[in-house]
Amino acid sequence: MAAAPALKHWRTTLERVEKFVSPLYFTDCNLRGRLFGDSCPVAELSSFLTPERLAYQEAVQQDFRPAQVGDSFGPTWWTCWFRVELTIPEAWVGQEVHLRWESDGEGLVWRDGEPVQGLTKEGEKTSYVLTDKLGEEDPRSLTLYVEVACNGLLGAGKGHMIAAPDPEKMFQGLGEDNQRSYQALYTANQMVNVCDPAQPETFPVAQALASKFFGQRGGESQHTIHALGHCHIDTAWLWPFKETVRKCARSWVTVVQLMERNPEFIFVCSQAQQLAWVKSHYPGLHARLQEFACRGQFVPVGGTWVEMDGNLPSGEAMVRQFLQGQSFFLQEFGKMCSEFWLPDTFGYSAQLPQIMRSCGIRRFLTQKLSWNLVNSFPHHTFFWEGLDGSRVLAHFPPGDSYGMQGSVEEVLKTVAKNRDKGRTNHSAFLFGFGDGGGGPTQTMVDRLKRLCNTDGLPRVQLSSPERLFSALEGHSGQLCTWVGELFLELHNGTYTTHAQIKKGNRECERILHDVELLSSLALARSAQFLYPAAQLQDLWRLLLLNQFHDVVTGSCIQLVAEEATCHYEDIRSRGNTLLSAAAAALCAGEPGPEGLLIVNTLPWKRTEVLALPRPGGAHCLALVTVPGMGYAPAPTPTSLQPLLPQQPVFVVQETDGSVTLDNGIIRVRLDPTGRLTSLVLVASGREAIAEGAVGNQFVLFDDVPLYWDAWDVMDYHLETRKPVLGQAGTLAVGTEGGMRGSAWFLLQISPNSRLSQEVVLDVGCPYVRFHTEVHWHEAHKFLKVEFPARVRSPQATFEVQFGHLQRPTHYNTSWDWARFEVWAHRWMDLSEHGFGLALLNDCKYGASVRGSVLSLSILRAPKSPDSTVDMGRHEFTYALMPHEGSFQDAGVIPAAYSLNFPLLALPAPGPAPAAAWSAFSVSSPAVVLETVKQAETSLQGRKLVLRLYEAHGSHVDCWLHTSLPVQEAVLCDLLERRDPAGPLPLRDSRLKLTFSPFQVQSLLLVLQPAPS
Ligand SMILES: [Zn+2]
Repeated sequence: MAAAPALKHWRTTLERVEKFVSPLYFTDCNLRGRLFGDSCPVAELSSFLTPERLAYQEAVQQDFRPAQVGDSFGPTWWTCWFRVELTIPEAWVGQEVHLRWESDGEGLVWRDGEPVQGLTKEGEKTSYVLTDKLGEEDPRSLTLYVEVACNGLLGAGKGHMIAAPDPEKMFQGLGEDNQRSYQALYTANQMVNVCDPAQPETFPVAQALASKFFGQRGGESQHTIHALGHCHIDTAWLWPFKETVRKCARSWVTVVQLMERNPEFIFVCSQAQQLAWVKSHYPGLHARLQEFACRGQFVPVGGTWVEMDGNLPSGEAMVRQFLQGQSFFLQEFGKMCSEFWLPDTFGYSAQLPQIMRSCGIRRFLTQKLSWNLVNSFPHHTFFWEGLDGSRVLAHFPPGDSYGMQGSVEEVLKTVAKNRDKGRTNHSAFLFGFGDGGGGPTQTMVDRLKRLCNTDGLPRVQLSSPERLFSALEGHSGQLCTWVGELFLELHNGTYTTHAQIKKGNRECERILHDVELLSSLALARSAQFLYPAAQLQDLWRLLLLNQFHDVVTGSCIQLVAEEATCHYEDIRSRGNTLLSAAAAALCAGEPGPEGLLIVNTLPWKRTEVLALPRPGGAHCLALVTVPGMGYAPAPTPTSLQPLLPQQPVFVVQETDGSVTLDNGIIRVRLDPTGRLTSLVLVASGREAIAEGAVGNQFVLFDDVPLYWDAWDVMDYHLETRKPVLGQAGTLAVGTEGGMRGSAWFLLQISPNSRLSQEVVLDVGCPYVRFHTEVHWHEAHKFLKVEFPARVRSPQATFEVQFGHLQRPTHYNTSWDWARFEVWAHRWMDLSEHGFGLALLNDCKYGASVRGSVLSLSILRAPKSPDSTVDMGRHEFTYALMPHEGSFQDAGVIPAAYSLNFPLLALPAPGPAPAAAWSAFSVSSPAVVLETVKQAETSLQGRKLVLRLYEAHGSHVDCWLHTSLPVQEAVLCDLLERRDPAGPLPLRDSRLKLTFSPFQVQSLLLVLQPAPS
């Protein structure tokens, strides 16, 4: 059997099989060529041509002249007589012997004066059996005549050979829309794979494949449709969250009735949050759902808290979707989900397969890629391979819907559109009113029941996800594999729409990260500290809720956006309170000079300029160094260090109004309107801005989609590009230099919208920051900022969850240009060998790189379904980092983390500690310690979970060092279940870990009992 499934190409597969049995092509290695064992040329071949149709006796008297195999004869309607002298080798005794004769004319073989066989190539008669079995005494030499009518040009025979069984040619005449024809073709293709013409012992394997195919009786290969009752309820969209609670109740009460009346009816239900709402608002209904879950009629699927967006949430947030979801399903329904369920989400991160698998899920269902505007996705059932190589089985219901109604038309469409005919013979059919709820009806159930076994239609079963996926897994040997992200070629505006929601999401992901880390450290260091587990669960669930696929995407109504804004505000304020409490506990009892603690929540040492609060609300800048995941005392005003050996920042304004900022690492030059005319890496003198171009160029596009206003930005918006030009003389020096230098300017974007920006360069910092404030009052406009780089590369790199991936910078194929607007997390990079330019951001997600131009998407102005979206004031920061070498070696990843996780200056209740302290460090820059939290399984206990990932795309060994009192360390999965392999060796507070590219690993650390 072939090791890997074949490519999915009808024509090449068909022609491959044809060539394998071709008498014309590749006969040196194909089956036809080896059908005949030994061969030898005819002893002598001669011919004569005549326009007459002579009798045999007359013809054989004529003057025959020598002829060669391959000669041509004619003209048309003449006759060519051949005399064929044969000498059969001695060795062929006991074998079947043929004369093989291939000519374009119609031939007749004469033997001993009698016609014995017709020979026509078109009629596939190219062989005359001289004897079934050559006897010892049979004559070895004989003379035959072949009379050939020249109905065209002639070839000539190739000698006589020994025959083997003929291969089946079963694929001809079958169409491409037929399940059976694909099965036939793939069977034939497999036969070619297993059949070695030189090794007859392989033939029975091929014959067995053919027998299996022919052995299927009428109807056995009939497609099976697994009809699953479903009700897609958007957790908030054109209605607020509160209304969804009632939608769930209305829909599921109906479903309960249907389940009662139809014991064979199965309903699949996703989104733990909706079930949690029903549990608290309608406990009776929840109890009924639990009953039907026991009977197997109510099947929870998905495993996540909500059906989240598949692009924007961070890697850790995606993990939490499963962690919160699966634990809820386990607690309420006795088991976890085995299918990831995201039918309506706008694209799927390449890290999802790894996250799914580590959360106990190997199956995935969606249908959204059928919405692709440009390219039709090539599979409905396939293996999806993620960034790290993890594979899951993915299924897209071929009917391209999650809200079918059970019509015959939909059933037929499901079969006809299946792009994996001949590879799988099962597909899902999701029926029930969706989006706003409603769900299946008795009419739909009745319709589908009638189709269980109807002539001319596929078999329809009321089925379960388990039965569907088991059937798919049972015949997965021929499935193809898709590697990398599942990019939706539509809804690309959702990376940008509703900037405040995006900002809230990014900030709250940061706050929860910091709260968990500091609370974990406080737990480890203080016997009195209580880890705020319940509060953190609340806050996480709130954040996860807003990552629903119509909220964080910005495709919701104003009411929902307002609720989301409140949720983020809630997380911010409660999070900050928790942060202060943890910081206070962390340094309690440590004597120090001043009540201020500088905290670094990232796992590496940082030296940065920080604004320290001073009495009276003032601030002063200080250069501070803080170890990884730890703290340092705040420098006192008298102890503010001299900058040496760092070069201070120089700020120079020229007479033409341009400003140069220089910190000895990079030199930034802004023209009098604030655009970037030069960005130089000082050490190498290397210029990062393309020759003759300017960076930090704001551009405005017309942004009128075809239909889905908040969702879609169309390719043609690129044709309306208008640079926003400022006025000379608006650029001014802000901070004078020293610790920090800056310049600022105002820019009128349009009569209604304006922005102001401060361009900031700090001592020792490898990137320049652009603090931006925009007052935005537009309709159907798209604002971006562009940086043409002096870098050439066919690919750019974009950060995604726990890693990064490349996308093309050109529009060669339709798959390339369909990605004219893409998403990224905290950074993107365009690098050639030895040099590159990275663009970092603190709350943006939309991006693109075309040619050498890096572009960050800033604000949109759609008017539906929320006419007020994005109107008003916005504040955000992006940064630019030129670098030598690769972005990995240059430290682009930690720089982007730094921009997103500022050092914290937290008030301590008493004196702050006098010495710096670090909880964790990792020996390899390729490995990021992303998360430190308390283990879910020990809410009162002293167990921590650490999440690390390999961020460079490399195989690497590293050491994790900790100063915490660790008693035991063991690997665990994302659901925090211990690795059965047992504890890891822990020596001198160090653990050795091994990573493959983009691998995510979790560690369970059991801490020693608290000091009393
Ligand atoms: Zn939806």
